[in-house]
Amino acid sequence: MTDARTAYRLEINGIVQGVGFRPFIYQLANHHGLKGEVANTATGVSLVLEGLEKGIRQFIDDIPVKQPPLAHIVEVSEAPEPVKGFTAFSIVKSRGSATRATLISPDVMVCDDCLAEMRDPADRRFGYPFINCTNCGPRYTIIDDIPYDRPKTSMRHFRMCPLCQAEYDDPDNRRFHAQPNACPACGPRVTLFDSGAKPVDTDDPIADTAARLKDGRIVAVKGLGGFHLAVDATHADAVVRLRRRKHREEKPLALMCDSLDRIREIARFGEAEERLLGSIQRPIVLLEKREDTPIVESVSPSNRYFGIMLPYTPLHHLLLDAGFTALVMTSANLSEEPIAINNAEAFERLGEIADDFLVHDRDILLRSDDSIVRHSAGHMRPIRRSRGYVPVPVFLKDDMPPVLACGAELKNTVCLTRGKQAFVSQHIGDLENRATDDFFRHTVDHLKRILDIDPQIVACDLHPDYMSTRYARELEGITRIEVQHHHAHIAACMAENKADGPVIGLSFDGAGLGTDGTVWGGEVLVADYHTFTRAAHMAPVPMPGSAAAIREPWRMAVSHLNAAFGEEMGALQLPFLQSVGKQRADILLAMIDKQVNSPLTSSLGRLFDAVAAIIGLRGQVAFEGQAAMELEMILDNTESGSYDFYWEDDGTCQIATTPIIQAVVRDVATGVSPNVISARFHNTLILLFDQLCRHLRTAMGIDRVALSGGVFQNNRLLVGLIAALETSGFDLLTHRLVPTNDGGLSLGQAVVAAAKVSHS
Ligand code: ZN
Ligand code: ZN
Ligand code: FE
Repeated sequence: MTDARTAYRLEINGIVQGVGFRPFIYQLANHHGLKGEVANTATGVSLVLEGLEKGIRQFIDDIPVKQPPLAHIVEVSEAPEPVKGFTAFSIVKSRGSATRATLISPDVMVCDDCLAEMRDPADRRFGYPFINCTNCGPRYTIIDDIPYDRPKTSMRHFRMCPLCQAEYDDPDNRRFHAQPNACPACGPRVTLFDSGAKPVDTDDPIADTAARLKDGRIVAVKGLGGFHLAVDATHADAVVRLRRRKHREEKPLALMCDSLDRIREIARFGEAEERLLGSIQRPIVLLEKREDTPIVESVSPSNRYFGIMLPYTPLHHLLLDAGFTALVMTSANLSEEPIAINNAEAFERLGEIADDFLVHDRDILLRSDDSIVRHSAGHMRPIRRSRGYVPVPVFLKDDMPPVLACGAELKNTVCLTRGKQAFVSQHIGDLENRATDDFFRHTVDHLKRILDIDPQIVACDLHPDYMSTRYARELEGITRIEVQHHHAHIAACMAENKADGPVIGLSFDGAGLGTDGTVWGGEVLVADYHTFTRAAHMAPVPMPGSAAAIREPWRMAVSHLNAAFGEEMGALQLPFLQSVGKQRADILLAMIDKQVNSPLTSSLGRLFDAVAAIIGLRGQVAFEGQAAMELEMILDNTESGSYDFYWEDDGTCQIATTPIIQAVVRDVATGVSPNVISARFHNTLILLFDQLCRHLRTAMGIDRVALSGGVFQNNRLLVGLIAALETSGFDLLTHRLVPTNDGGLSLGQAVVAAAKVSHS
């Protein structure tokens, strides 16, 4: 009988609560003429379907195609059920009280339906800056605890008016169970304050704010995951003033434009970037600058790129309505402190920076910076993974015990695991001050609570002075595993690719403590999850002044010149050495000679610094990696030359830096332009590591290569090495889900720690 009614039970796991999933199921069931019921459960949703086999199959096929934009299905299981004779399809009450294993949605952009209502003068939410629905709006940043219900969010202070409540209760409505649902009558509102923290008397605080921005004022604007500092990006005085007051002299400032057309006026981009810009996560996307734009040079000095995003909250749209080419929208903090989130904190901490404050009364419970991505070598590459992406887990190949991984020191994130899921936190920042330490601790506690994970293993770096390591060492009654930094980088790359080892891991960054007590950073490891060997590394040189050598690349340059030329260094006719002066160089050489505060380093990042300094690009930096970044920016794309290289193999390959440094000096002396030298230096590294990987493949029979570490933010090196290694026939693993820099490190620490525990 083909028209016989059958019944099935489906269990769907993933991000399926708080995203309009049950109403979607309800409507889809009605569409296919099916009866039954749907309910939230501890792990997702459970539904019973009764009807014709054909309709049920179509229903199941439709789920992934038509699911709500915020849903993320991990698993669907299906089992036959006895036919009970349902007469309708209905949404029933949640089963059980434990909904703790479900996934929470990230904060995403306002949807088109809500925007259309906000633009409609006849709509009751016309011009309302907090409009949202089950398909859009805040989630992660307003949740205090689970289950995700209004009383557990910062919306608990707002009692819904009868109209909002009716929407909330109606399964046919787009706002059915939309926890942040609000309107001008019952929801949050904005207020404009001037620098004296006095409220400004105005009918339209948003239009008033826009007018102030046009006048060149700096406005602190409260957003989704924290405050932004906003200025008109075409207003030279305003941008310069913002940089000065924020003590952020060099780092690029993010821009926000109201449309793709507007972005096209100031930057170049293709289809892939267009998709990233328009994605619901609304990240900052790195785009190549156009020349001759009205954007002030100091927005992104000495850089070929702008970081640009489209508006993602209704408030942003309303602000940009005033017609800006672009607004600077940079995280509101003092240099390296975390982004400000609450109003009192903002008035206090930003009082010296902002002229005005556009604030609202919906609390941000967890700060979350804007995410930064770029499109490179065919894929999205996260640089900072935060708002819009967190807390979507990285899905792993194998089940994990509950692990807390504490990350490293710079660009810190933490990671918690549960089953096959690894939850990498939002960007926490550089753990160099009290405020960031507090944010770190707060994030660990918050994530443990909303994910309901009680870690049995804690993972951290080997470096004893990192705040994250000290935190891990303080914990009691928990197994602690300390993971070598560059091993963690490679393991992170393997984990997000669900790959098994062994791999040849190119782990390149500025610094990480090695197992031999020296500073590593130009490492070629043969690694699997639980262990590694150091197959090759850059030949170590002293780092005179230790941390000072990171801030002052000229120190690394002197050290590398000394290693390459020895006694003859003094005779070199190098403009760089003249600018350093004999006296300063001699002091440094004495430090190196006497081994005073001069740890050995095999860092590739520091080699970039040295080359940048030798060719006269910069002797000092305002942030880690700046010299290396500028070296990439000046690169002449048409140059295909390279330098000689070699390595010495005594079981571990030591890659000589001297021929490279000697060739750079020779080029400088013969008047080769810095642009060409930069290109030759990059080309050399690409050839060198391709050849080295082939050497290791022959020696060890491993044909899989993983690329990780902060140096791979260098686009030329990433793209060039991917092309070379693919041509050589390697199976390549690269980062697409977590950052290649230390922001992805906690994921690697977590999987290594779990592997070590299961091996012991
Ligand atoms: Zn919406
Ligand atoms: Zn209302
Ligand atoms: Fe690193």
